Amino acid sequence: MEATVALAGNPNSGKTTLFNALTGARQHVGNYPGVTVEKKEGSCSHNGNQLHIVDLPGTYSLTAYSIEEVVARDFLISQKPEVVIDIVDASNLERNLYLAVQFLEMGVPLVLSLNMIDVARQRGIEVDAKRLSELLGVPAVPTIARSGRGKDDLLAAAVLKVKEGRKPDPLVISYGDDLDLALAEMEGRIRAQSFLTNLYPARWVALKFLEGDAQILEKGRKLNPELASSLEKTVHKVTDHLAKTLDTEPEALISDHRYGYIHALLKQGVIQRQYNQNRLYASDTIDRFLTHRLLGPIIMLLVVMGLYKFTFTYSEMPVAWVEGFFGWLGDLAAAHLPEGLFKSLVLSGIIDGVGGVMGFVPLIMFMFFGISILEDSGYLARVAYMLDRVFRIFGLHGNSVMAYIVSGGIAGGCAVPGVMATRTLRSPKERLATLLTAPFMNCGAKLPVFALLIAAFFAENEAGIMFAITIIAWAGALLAAKLLRSTVVKGPATPFVMELPPYRIPTFKGLCIHTWERTWQYIKKAGTVILGIAIILWAMMTFPSLSDSRAAEFERQRIAIAAEAPTATVQKPGSAQEDTGLSAAAQQLQDRLEAVDHAEAEAGLRYSVAGRIGTALESVTRLAGFDWRTNIALLGGFAAKEVVVSTLGTAYSLGEVDPEQSEPLSERLANSPEWSPLVAWSLIIFTIFYAPCFVTVVCIVRESGSWKWGAFSVTFNTAVAYVLAAGVYQIGTFLGGS
Ligand code: GDP
Ligand code: MG
Repeated sequence: MEATVALAGNPNSGKTTLFNALTGARQHVGNYPGVTVEKKEGSCSHNGNQLHIVDLPGTYSLTAYSIEEVVARDFLISQKPEVVIDIVDASNLERNLYLAVQFLEMGVPLVLSLNMIDVARQRGIEVDAKRLSELLGVPAVPTIARSGRGKDDLLAAAVLKVKEGRKPDPLVISYGDDLDLALAEMEGRIRAQSFLTNLYPARWVALKFLEGDAQILEKGRKLNPELASSLEKTVHKVTDHLAKTLDTEPEALISDHRYGYIHALLKQGVIQRQYNQNRLYASDTIDRFLTHRLLGPIIMLLVVMGLYKFTFTYSEMPVAWVEGFFGWLGDLAAAHLPEGLFKSLVLSGIIDGVGGVMGFVPLIMFMFFGISILEDSGYLARVAYMLDRVFRIFGLHGNSVMAYIVSGGIAGGCAVPGVMATRTLRSPKERLATLLTAPFMNCGAKLPVFALLIAAFFAENEAGIMFAITIIAWAGALLAAKLLRSTVVKGPATPFVMELPPYRIPTFKGLCIHTWERTWQYIKKAGTVILGIAIILWAMMTFPSLSDSRAAEFERQRIAIAAEAPTATVQKPGSAQEDTGLSAAAQQLQDRLEAVDHAEAEAGLRYSVAGRIGTALESVTRLAGFDWRTNIALLGGFAAKEVVVSTLGTAYSLGEVDPEQSEPLSERLANSPEWSPLVAWSLIIFTIFYAPCFVTVVCIVRESGSWKWGAFSVTFNTAVAYVLAAGVYQIGTFLGGS
């Protein structure tokens, strides 16, 4: 066998020394074509395999900053060496692995030479080559170039790599929310038009555009000016956004995350000694507390609890204002609109329906503000870092943690980007298990449902209940993942590295922008999609209306009551109590009339399409404590979870005798005989677990490549939700909770 081997590495890592040790006298020196960079070539043999060895210029990076970097990169692309040996200085691993990570991102077949282990040892640094090799997925051979130690093992590893002859999958590092989304989107366009993909991996090209790599930009502009300029437009947008929110540039963020990746890699057992040479990690001192084995998880739980406390406490007043505003709007509409369908649509469908969802905007905003602090400061990455130990137990991957958090792990995310975030998982099995369970997290659409029920039934312990809801969601998701991983998606676990980018102090402006972006998404969705669905559901709850004969029957009852009126008033003859007596009788009459109105409204709602469906389902859902109105709301929730709130709002508004007297939905529920704290718990449980919303299901189908997994998640999740909700309700009832 013959093969070309390129030697690469940082300056002073021992490249030339190793080159000499390998090739001995068989070498000659020339120049790379067109530049004055020295090119050394030589040859050696190993077990009868002939190896042509090229000493690449020493570089720290593979971005086209210097002529050496361009030369090294171009050699890899044009000559396609069968294997690259990256010589890393083991006494300065963190810095040296920066280049190795870039080779891996480029998808280059790599062997690591852990050189200068003698120097490392002198400094008391013990490198675990096996662990490093496991985590990076490439061979890592300890060497001492000066004495030639490890030379043969290194050659053996290189020959083996050549014989494997497989182009490795490029390493995918997460660069944080903002960049990951842009990268995924750019990557899609790059792939679709095969833009430079004959030379480089698609994601790598996108990354180079973000880094503003002059050479790639130039190549790209020549090849496909249109696509290149549209990619550059995306880059400009991201760059602006980063400047505004994080006060940084894509390049800096990318390098932070690469170092974060390496830092975490070394922390995961590669280096025993706690070392602190790198100033980048003043963060280390902070991490000694925040990611401490015992202290870390406790602090994490306190932080989450604190976030909820903050959110519920400070949003209480603004939520009341917004509720008051919609109440006022309702009064206005009730007073000025003529009786009829239009009034019912505006009052019950829109104001009491969508208004209920909008009412929680301040709460959502406070929650997002808190989460932005956790995210922008870098704490969220620590949460992920701490949780990945737990995740392994349940057959998930470290990258699954981020997918969970994006889906609403703390609260208020969205499963759609969460499911997409699973792309960073390389094992298809782990990826599937993650994307099927991520929708159990508490996305922003479920929040108003919880907020409503908490306000109605658990107002004295809001943060505590929200905390419990979070724990239940995580426990359920992890157990479901374990179940899936030991049945339908069995398979081995893959090694991984969790990133630890340095801490930053968030800027107030950045926090405000992030908070507003998310809040605006919520408002926009409520004002468009949710409004549309609320109108459809209002119609389904209104038509068909009661037949004339039944309406006439209610009218007859009212006339009969009214006919008793004079007798009722004369029953109490003049006395000292005349006034109150009179009004008491009138009050009684009034109540009886209202009871008839109420019965008519309820009969009307039951008679409607939605009412009939809800009633038909009652025989099943009664086990979980859901009445027919709740059933309608839950059916609406298949479209989007906020609809549960808007539909309950409409249903209780339509059943209301006197819509003029507007009270918030939470009070209506609290006063309603069908509801109790136990029913609320059952509904909370059901809402956490039942079928993902329509858009998420579509996303699951797309990402898993099969409609079967979409169908699976709808049925599996709903079944789990029903069993759990019914269990809670039945046990609760048995214990006398209702
Ligand atoms: P290059 O810049 O990567 O080509 O590095 P060189 O091959 O010129 O080596 C830089 C210095 O490190 C030289 O003084 C070498 O003798 C020394 N060196 C190289 N490898 C080792 C090693 O494994 N152990 C020790 N102690 N020194 C080494
Ligand atoms: Mg040299």
